[in-house]
Amino acid sequence: MKLQEYQAKEIFAAYGIPIQKGTVIDRPEKIDEVALTYPVVLKAQVLVGGRGKAGGIKLAAQPAEARQKAAQILGMSIKGEVVRRLLVAEAAEIGAEYYLAFTVDRAARRLVVIGSAAGGIDIEDVARTTPEKIVKVHIDPFTGFYPYHTREIGRTLGFKGKHLLQFAAIAHSLSRICTEMDAELAEINPLAIVKTTAAGDGSLLAVDAKLIIDDNAIYRHDGLPRNEELTELEVAARSQDLSYVELDGDVAIIGNGAGLVMSTLDMISHFGGRPANFLDVGGGATTENMTQAMSIVLRKKGVRSLFINIFGGITRCDDIARAIAAQPPPVPMVVRLTGTNEEEGRAILKQAAIHAHIDPEAAAQEVVRLMGKA
Ligand code: GDP
Ligand code: MN
Repeated sequence: MKLQEYQAKEIFAAYGIPIQKGTVIDRPEKIDEVALTYPVVLKAQVLVGGRGKAGGIKLAAQPAEARQKAAQILGMSIKGEVVRRLLVAEAAEIGAEYYLAFTVDRAARRLVVIGSAAGGIDIEDVARTTPEKIVKVHIDPFTGFYPYHTREIGRTLGFKGKHLLQFAAIAHSLSRICTEMDAELAEINPLAIVKTTAAGDGSLLAVDAKLIIDDNAIYRHDGLPRNEELTELEVAARSQDLSYVELDGDVAIIGNGAGLVMSTLDMISHFGGRPANFLDVGGGATTENMTQAMSIVLRKKGVRSLFINIFGGITRCDDIARAIAAQPPPVPMVVRLTGTNEEEGRAILKQAAIHAHIDPEAAAQEVVRLMGKA
């Protein structure tokens, strides 16, 4: 789960990482109520990167200008996300810009610290064009992250004296955030040397903050905001313990097991169809689960056909067939049904005049063909 910049910065501040003084507003008029020293920086709070380039970050020298610019940013759309909130912060006078992040290197099965003196721009661009400007240090999970690591990285980035000490403190805090908050990514870009701030002259400052919490660990952190925006149908599916995801095509898909569902999506796309959504009824799905599943996927707007791909294992084909036969959908449907209790399942469907495929590819082709006709 991604956190908004201001949410990440609250956590940063709690761990002693210097940030700018600021406040969040949702209407331009609220500028008049903020007690900040001008100039200020107005920052769109959206969960996508590159806000600066997209016009979502602007400086303002006095309140009238801030109000006018806030009105421009609030409501604008950045990479498809509408700006609902704005972080107003005391602008920093930025000198050098650095990059610092902790993230999980899955291949190495450990945390990695990534640093660069070429901050402020996309780290992927730096990695592509000037990889020598990036330092990477893996952290041994058995021995942990030590001050000598931070000093080593800091020196490689060119920090000296006071800045080296500040860098070491920030890196140490960021590593603690990463482990204690179960973050997949804790990133500061840019980490800047500022000319003047409340934090003191020429100090290091986290101008931006990015924090992604591992979804599997969210339950361990009570105080976290809930940024996931689920659609009404996703909420309905979740309440039934069904995993459901919305896409933007027109073929509704139900399968059992994540692997089968993924390969079903691939097959549909391969034959030229566009999945509208997909729902995994999981192992051991009952007639009731299947009934719920059908009602959820079919409620999505724009669905023009239904594809059901079930490979019975613990799930029994007759249970699935009973749900299908009891409520034939209002759109063309193609069923592939095979595995445990297949004969019984087929017999039930046959009575309802529903054909069941055995070959998943033939079934996927059939549903795409039906769509072409419709
Ligand atoms: P991002 O574009 O979404 O990564 O947003 P950032 O918070 O990293 O800001 C993008 C850029 O805007 C920074 O690299 C700075 O150049 C500029 N910027 C952000 N905050 C300030 C500020 O307080 N003062 C000044 N002068 N520039 C800022
Ligand atoms: Mn940034």
